[in-house]
Amino acid sequence: MPYKNPEDEIKWRTSDFGRKWIKEWNLKNKEKLREYYKRWEIENKEKRKEQHQERYKKNKEHHKKIGKIWREQNKEKIRDHGKKWRNENKENIAIKSKIYREKNKEIIKNKSKLYHLKNKERQNKRVKLNYQKNKEKIKLNDINDRMKVYNHYSNYNIKCNCCGEKHIDFLSIDHIDNNGYEQRKKGISSKRLIKWIIKNNYPSGFQISCMNCNHGRSRNPERICVHQKELSEKILKL
Ligand SMILES: [Zn+2]
Ligand SMILES: [Zn+2]
Repeated sequence: MPYKNPEDEIKWRTSDFGRKWIKEWNLKNKEKLREYYKRWEIENKEKRKEQHQERYKKNKEHHKKIGKIWREQNKEKIRDHGKKWRNENKENIAIKSKIYREKNKEIIKNKSKLYHLKNKERQNKRVKLNYQKNKEKIKLNDINDRMKVYNHYSNYNIKCNCCGEKHIDFLSIDHIDNNGYEQRKKGISSKRLIKWIIKNNYPSGFQISCMNCNHGRSRNPERICVHQKELSEKILKL
């Protein structure tokens, strides 16, 4: 296509013959073309970006449609890619989201409140459904978490701090400084307390005790279990 006059070249290019010729040439030289475009794209990154953006702006609706179809067809691929990316950028994401949350505390609070109010029923339904779906898994996770916390506060020998009761169903996490009542008043269940303890890296101030000793302590004005009182009286008598 050695035309000296650009107008002639355009004529040739848009003619049936020219189109056919170009198509055939492109097919024959696929590899060559691909390499050429690749090289061009690397050398002209900014320009390519601009071109893409322009093309996108021109056919926004069309691109949106295509994008939607592609995303639906490649759901798994996208999910895997996102997972991989998030795993690789964990720290960066954490820092960024922390900064964002601190900057936009009030906005986030209001938004989530509003969202919760608007979608109360839907959310409750979803939570219920999720629970039904993963019942066994959630239960197992809860037990695992409980064991982790119990093990930590009883030095891997789970038993009541006071009387030595070993049956897991009798044991609970106890506040050493007796503010369990305050906690319950605030509506923090033992399940949430366990999650909170793990999330906060096992802070001090907790012990494992059985229901009896827990109750005994809370009834006693000195906050000492009857067992301990009896023991010290015995020792003092001797
Ligand atoms: Zn006990
Ligand atoms: Zn006791």
